[in-house]
This record gives sequence, C-alpha cells and structure tokens, in this order.
Amino acid sequence: MIAAAVATTKPVTKPKAKPKSKRVKRDPVRAWHARLRRYRPELMTDTLDALCQTYEKAFDALCRHYPVQDRELSARAFAGFRAGWGGVGIEEAEADWAAVADAPIDELIDVIRPGGLAPTKAPRIQAVLRKIFEERGDFSLEFLGELTAPEALAWLTQIPGIGRKTASVVLLFSFGMPLMPVDRHIERVTKRVGLVPPKATPEQAHDYLQVQLDDERVHEAHVNLITHGRQTCHALRPACGSCAINSRCRYINPKAP
Ligand code: SF4
Repeated sequence: MIAAAVATTKPVTKPKAKPKSKRVKRDPVRAWHARLRRYRPELMTDTLDALCQTYEKAFDALCRHYPVQDRELSARAFAGFRAGWGGVGIEEAEADWAAVADAPIDELIDVIRPGGLAPTKAPRIQAVLRKIFEERGDFSLEFLGELTAPEALAWLTQIPGIGRKTASVVLLFSFGMPLMPVDRHIERVTKRVGLVPPKATPEQAHDYLQVQLDDERVHEAHVNLITHGRQTCHALRPACGSCAINSRCRYINPKAP
C-alpha cells in the first residue's frame, strides 16, 4: 500500500517547451522587391525604358485664367524654391491663389474643367487654400522645401482633402522631391505587369513602387506610366498587341519573365 502511495505522488516531469522561433517577420514591401529582383530582374527598368512622355493641361489653364497680379512680389516670394522646381512635364507657372480661394465656385469649375472631375476638385482646392492660409498666414508652400521628403509629405497629408497621391505630385513636381505619386492608371498598369501585388491598396502601391525606384527615375516613372495607362493599357480592352512592354507583362502571360 505504502509503495503504491509513493508511486502515485511522484512528481511528473513536464516535457521541455520548444524554444520560440526568433525569425523576424519581413517587411512585405521589401520582401516583394527582393522577390522581383530575384525572379523578374530589371522589370522596373525595362518597363520605364519602354515608355514615353505626357503633359498636364488643367494647371496651365488655371494659371492663365488667374494670372499673378504683382510679378515682382511673386518673384520674391518664390525665389527660394525656383531652383528646386521639378518642372519637367509641367510648365513653370503660378496663379493668384487669393483670387482662386475667393473665386465664385461655378467660375472655378469652368476654368479647371479640362482636368476632369471639376465639380469635386474646385471646392477642395478652395478648402485647401483656406486651410493653408489659416495655418501659415499666406499661400506659399515654399517652407516645404526646407523639410525632408517624409516630413513634407506628412505636413501636406494632414490637411483634409490632400491624400498621398496629391501630396506626392506637389512635392515631386514643385520641389523635385523623389516621391512617386500613384493614380488609378499607374496602379492598373503596374499591377498588370506585376510590379505591384494584385491585392495591394492604392496607399500600399505607393510603397511597393517607391522602394523599386531610384530617385532620379521617379519623375519619369510617374509620367510614363500614366501615359501608358491612358494611351495603351486601358481599363477595358488594353491594346496589348501594340504594347511596348508586353513581353514582360503578367496580364497576358502569367509566366512572363
Ligand atoms: S501588355 Fe497589355 S495589360 Fe500588359 S501593360 Fe501592355 S497593354 Fe497593359
């Protein structure tokens, strides 16, 4: 009896717990970039090399309709960032922003109509101008040139109505900062080619492309990918037969290199 009791009270040795894995989860954007470099080398370079340039119409129309009244004052105000003006693909121009902020809304809609979505954009432009004036005391964004690209991006995107795409356009074209704006055309083309994962959100697409681009090719990438989306890689019935990058596109060949 005693021996049985001793046997039942003997401490049970627990099996040793397996040591936890120390593997750190990789940043999905960098992991995607590494995969492309390994399995589809030079995809971004080949894509950019095969595309051509475009231009902007609505901004030019706006500057013509609301010309700066005091050229001397304007030259002084803008002197600080003229050197950094990205300028390629968009004519160097400016407007009387106070007049734009106070313009009758129907008039402003008519002026910017060539750019599309004018009834949505016009009130947003006025709201943004008023907000900038409220925060800074004038309409100049010259101070952004003193900030780093991420700081300038953060300042602009905290303003209601300015998203990542719009902020990146301003900083790329006006300050020459290497930030890649991604619109619906660029998102469509790059997902079809396979530069961006199919399920990435528009916000994530910015990061996936940014990490693949050398700073000096960001402007070119933006302009050429938009052109390609508008002229060839249409949402419906893309003209794949005449596409300059069809040999590397996963939309028509799921095994394209
Ligand atoms: S091959 Fe077709 S789907 Fe692919 S990028 Fe060219 S036009 Fe677009």
